[in-house]
Amino acid sequence: MTISASISSHQRADVAAAPPSPAPPKLATARPESARRRGPALRWSWRLTTISGIDVYVHGTFLLLLAFVASSDLLAGRGSAAVMPDTLLILAVFTSVLLHELGHALTARRFGVRTHDITLLPIGGVARLDRLPDKPGQQLLVALAGPAVNMVIALLLFGLVRLLGGQVPSAGLYDTSGPFLVQLLWINVSLALFNLLPGYPMDGGRILRAILAMRMAPERATQTAARVGQGVALIFGAVGLFVNPLLMVIAVFVWLGAQAEHSASTLKIALTGLSVREGMITDFKSVSPTDPLSRAVELTLAGFQQDFPVLDEAALVGILTHADVLKGLAEHGADLSVQQAMSGELDTVSPSEALDGALTRLYQRDSRALMVVENEKLVGLVTLANIGELLALEAAGNQPGALATQARGGTVR
Ligand SMILES: [Zn+2]
Repeated sequence: MTISASISSHQRADVAAAPPSPAPPKLATARPESARRRGPALRWSWRLTTISGIDVYVHGTFLLLLAFVASSDLLAGRGSAAVMPDTLLILAVFTSVLLHELGHALTARRFGVRTHDITLLPIGGVARLDRLPDKPGQQLLVALAGPAVNMVIALLLFGLVRLLGGQVPSAGLYDTSGPFLVQLLWINVSLALFNLLPGYPMDGGRILRAILAMRMAPERATQTAARVGQGVALIFGAVGLFVNPLLMVIAVFVWLGAQAEHSASTLKIALTGLSVREGMITDFKSVSPTDPLSRAVELTLAGFQQDFPVLDEAALVGILTHADVLKGLAEHGADLSVQQAMSGELDTVSPSEALDGALTRLYQRDSRALMVVENEKLVGLVTLANIGELLALEAAGNQPGALATQARGGTVR
C-alpha cells in the first residue's frame, strides 16, 4: 500500500528529477552495470521471486505478522480452523499490495524508468524506482497506477462475488467479518482510497505533486506537496490518538517521508547552477595498481580520503573504495595488491556537468565517489561528503555558489 511509499527510493528519485546528464566518457576498464550486485533496500529481507526483472523481497517482520495472527486466533480460542482462512487472507492482501507496487513499477517502465526492487513489509510495499519520469503527466500516471490496480481488483472481486450469487454488503471499509472474497474486496477499496490521501510521499501526495509540477517549478511543487503531507500526518496522528494507534505509526512514516522529500528538494535548489568543477576535490591522493593495500591504509590514516583513484602511470584504470580496502584486508591482508582488491565500477563525470546531476548519479549507483575526467585526464573527485561540506559552507556564507567561485578564482556575484 506504499504507506512508507518508497521513502528512500523516492528521496533519490526526486533528487533525480533533473534532466539526464550527458553520458560519461567510456573508459576501457569501466565495468558493466550488471557486474554490480545490489542487495535489498532493507536488511532482514529475503528475495521471494523476480517478476519482469524486478526482485521482490519480503521483510522478516512479515513472518512475525503471520505468527501473530495465527497465535492470537489460537489464544482467542477460535481454534486451528480459524488460522487457515486468516493466514490466507493476509497472503491475499499481500498479493494485492504486490500488484499495487507492480502497477507503479510497470507504468514507470513504460516511461523508461527502471525499478530496482519491491519490498513487502507488514505496513505495505515499497518500490525502489531509479528516478521519477521526466514529465509531470507521466509522474501522475505512475502514482495513479498503484491505487488503480486495487480498484480493478475490487471490481473483479465484485463481479466474482455476484457471479457466485453472493451479496456485497455496503457495510463499510472496516467490516472484517463476512466471506473471504468480500473482505478482500473491501480491503482493496480501502487500500486504494487510503493511498489516495494527499499525504506525501503516499500516492495521493505524489499525484498532488505531479499536478502542482504542471504549473510550478518541480522543486516548489515538491516542497508544497511535502508541507501538505506533513499537515495530513498531523491529522493522522491526532485522529490516531482517539481511534487507532496504527494511524499514529503511519503518521510518523508520512511525516518523516515528507521531511526527507523536503530536504532533498532544498538540496537540489541549493545545488542549482553549480557545476562539478565547483564542487570537486582537487587535492587528492591516488594509488597505483601494483601498490599493496597497506599504501591505501597509510593514506587514509594520514588524511581524510577513503576512496582512491587507481592510476597506471597517468591513465585512470579504476577506483579503490573504502569497502574494497576493508574487504581486501579482512580476506587477504595488507599485502594484497590494489589491482586485486579494487572491485567498484568506475564512474566518471566531466567538470562542466551540473553538480546536482553528479549527485543524482552518486545516489543512483550507490557509489561513494565520481572521478572527474577532462581531456582523458583525472582532474578531481566528487564525493557526497564534499558536496555536503560545500553546502554547509555555502549556507554559512549565505550566497549560493559564491564561495566555490571565489575559492577557484572566479568572480563573485
Ligand atoms: Zn502506491
